[in-house]
Amino acid sequence: MSEPVKLLSGETGDWEVVIGLEVHAQVSSVAKLFSGASAAYGAGPNENVSLVDAAMPGMLPVINRYCVEQAVRTGLGLNAKINKWSRFDRKNYFYPDLPQGYQISQFKDPIVGEGEIEVELDDGEVIKVGIERLHLEQDAGKSIHDLSDSDSHVDLNRSGVALMEIVSKPQMRSAEEGAAYFSKLRTIVRYLGTCDGNMDQGSMRADVNVSVCRAGNYDKFRESGDFSFLGTRTETKNVNSIRYVRQVIDYEARRQIQVIEGGGKIDQETRLFDVKTGETRMMRSKEDAHDYRYFPDPDLLPLILDDAMIDDIKASLPELPDEKKRRFISDYGLSIYDATVLAMDREKAEFFEAVAEGRDGKLASNWLTTELFGVLNKQGLEISESPITTAQLGGLIDLISDKTISGKIAKQVFEIMLEEGGMPGDIVEQRGLKQVTDTGAIEAAVDAVIAANPDQVAKVKDKPKTMGWFVGQVMKETGGKANPQAVNEILRAKLGVTE
Ligand code: ADP
Ligand code: MG
Repeated sequence: MSEPVKLLSGETGDWEVVIGLEVHAQVSSVAKLFSGASAAYGAGPNENVSLVDAAMPGMLPVINRYCVEQAVRTGLGLNAKINKWSRFDRKNYFYPDLPQGYQISQFKDPIVGEGEIEVELDDGEVIKVGIERLHLEQDAGKSIHDLSDSDSHVDLNRSGVALMEIVSKPQMRSAEEGAAYFSKLRTIVRYLGTCDGNMDQGSMRADVNVSVCRAGNYDKFRESGDFSFLGTRTETKNVNSIRYVRQVIDYEARRQIQVIEGGGKIDQETRLFDVKTGETRMMRSKEDAHDYRYFPDPDLLPLILDDAMIDDIKASLPELPDEKKRRFISDYGLSIYDATVLAMDREKAEFFEAVAEGRDGKLASNWLTTELFGVLNKQGLEISESPITTAQLGGLIDLISDKTISGKIAKQVFEIMLEEGGMPGDIVEQRGLKQVTDTGAIEAAVDAVIAANPDQVAKVKDKPKTMGWFVGQVMKETGGKANPQAVNEILRAKLGVTE
């Protein structure tokens, strides 16, 4: 590995931080994993609860084929091994929101094995992060403690909803990398359509594992696979935004270094993130796998997939973000940065291609990333709510490309489209914004400016750079409509500027 090591300095020397994420992604499916009840968000309390979800005696789970297919689809999108034989296990624990007394999950034999994804960092660097596994499991219900002073309530709507738990290897090395990994996972599942990635509604959340070790020990771990080179980790549960993932890692890394340097030790424990203070706090000491008494669920047969099913899913995969990014660079000549910004969001990518198709891709990308995204950001809109259509922006780019208008006038037309709507061709026509390319008219304006400013003419002889002043004056004279290239050429000839 040639990645630069990111060190944190403490009082007693340098430390490295190591991060692994367990991400729960809710399968975008109509029904739950083992029952026909609705998995929709936002229903009234306990409206979406079947007898299976409420764990009535004698009820039996029936696997939802669609959810299985989505797990396979996600596995393929993570470049991971699909296990044709997998099995469901019971993870036993008591909690009021878990009426079965166990969660049906996959323990030793998950449906998806090892994989690897590419993750883009802010500076354009790309790192690889290994995936340990993806397994299917049921979500639990929700205990609600703040409805009354004396009673707690339980809402079982989420009970039985299908989750994919995606477990990374401990291969992220900074808060930025952890956040970027989470963001990339979200991009991938949204492209695949297997999870809507809606973190506000709890469709995607991360358990963030963080440890620190002395500088150099991570490499020893990578060479040997021996976890004892790493520090003890803490696991901060249910972190539901990319920004929070970053904060948790920063906070935990610093806290752990302080504890160890102060002579204490880190216990393997489960922690909670407080969004108000930006701090994590202890929730419970960590339970081990054997505490759950996992055993194969006797109500369910092993899950056996055939090649035809896997091949069908493979054939139906869309172009994924990494491929799209590479194609944007090679086909449209975009910079890595712009290609990444556009490709990492499927809707933005589609909007871009609708505008760029058959046009100057770089110009299209510039207008999108600077002008349009600027407006969307300011107004808090998604690209799907864009006040400017692909046809409007495409038309504007056509007018720039065929030199009907200059870039400056184009900004004006863009503002008009934004405020009043309308197609760019009509706006230019009705308001007489067409660029003046008639050299006679431009020459007349140039002559007028030269005649009126003998001092500036004298100055330009010594300092050719001051010709820019004349360009500005001529543009003013022509109401911004003169073709800037023609203005430059004519000025150069008349003022004798050769540079
Ligand atoms: P569990 O299921 O008990 O939480 P796992 O072995 O499945 O344990 O690991 C959970 C997550 O913790 C994985 O994402 C893994 O990469 C990460 N992890 C394991 N050891 C460390 C460590 N020392 N530091 C940081 N992350 C770790
Ligand atoms: Mg865990």
